[in-house]
Amino acid sequence: MCRGSDVMLVGGGNSAGQAAVYLSQNARKVFLLIRGDDLCKSMSSYLAHRIMNTPNIEILRCTEVIRMNGDGHLNSVEILNKITGEKKTLTTAALFSFIGANPRTDWLPSEIEKDEKHFVRTGIELGDSRQWTLKRQPFLLETSRPGVFAAGDVRSGSVKRVASAVGEGSMAVQFVHEYLKTM
Ligand SMILES: Cc1cc2nc3c(=O)[nH]c(=O)nc-3n(C[C@H](O)[C@H](O)[C@H](O)COP(=O)(O)OP(=O)(O)OC[C@H]3O[C@@H](n4cnc5c(N)ncnc54)[C@H](O)[C@@H]3O)c2cc1C
Repeated sequence: MCRGSDVMLVGGGNSAGQAAVYLSQNARKVFLLIRGDDLCKSMSSYLAHRIMNTPNIEILRCTEVIRMNGDGHLNSVEILNKITGEKKTLTTAALFSFIGANPRTDWLPSEIEKDEKHFVRTGIELGDSRQWTLKRQPFLLETSRPGVFAAGDVRSGSVKRVASAVGEGSMAVQFVHEYLKTM
């Protein structure tokens, strides 16, 4: 879909960086929009340097999307440089957003404690939580409701990587057995 055309990518993390490198192999040009002034602050340096050395990736620093235009499909995107106040309209048919994710934890009962960003608190993170009423400490992946465990991205403080999510899944099974022994 993007072959030979200009595409836009928003975000300064590793996911955005990997996508920019991938798209640069087929797109004519990749505009990478970041809110900060330095890619290396939010991206692994090997990836940031690779991007800076890829001729058809242009990094637009301190920049935000302010409007998307189109009729049925995207035609152009208006951007604002927050330092200079300069506004520009770039013609593009594709914009990819890599600006993070919100956990879908709204359905959980209030007895399962969450952090300020709605990720589920577990184990040591529960600290002196009023929700935790048992004498024993919670297991590593145990939520504020004894016997309920959380694993992977949804867990507050987790690494947000496939290998750790899978590992935590198998650890949770072990903790279920430990929990059952306490009953
Ligand atoms: C663009 C991108 C690039 C990434 N690149 C890498 C990488 O290169 N290497 C790496 O290690 N990690 C990478 N990650 C992170 C990796 O994808 C996650 O860490 C991993 O998928 C977390 O697994 P998880 O099982 O915890 O969550 P998820 O994979 O998000 O799985 C959660 C599942 O639960 C389902 N679900 C949600 N709510 C409910 C509900 N109420 N009932 C039933 N099901 C529900 C969802 O639909 C989803 O299928 C990347 C992530 C993104 C977004």
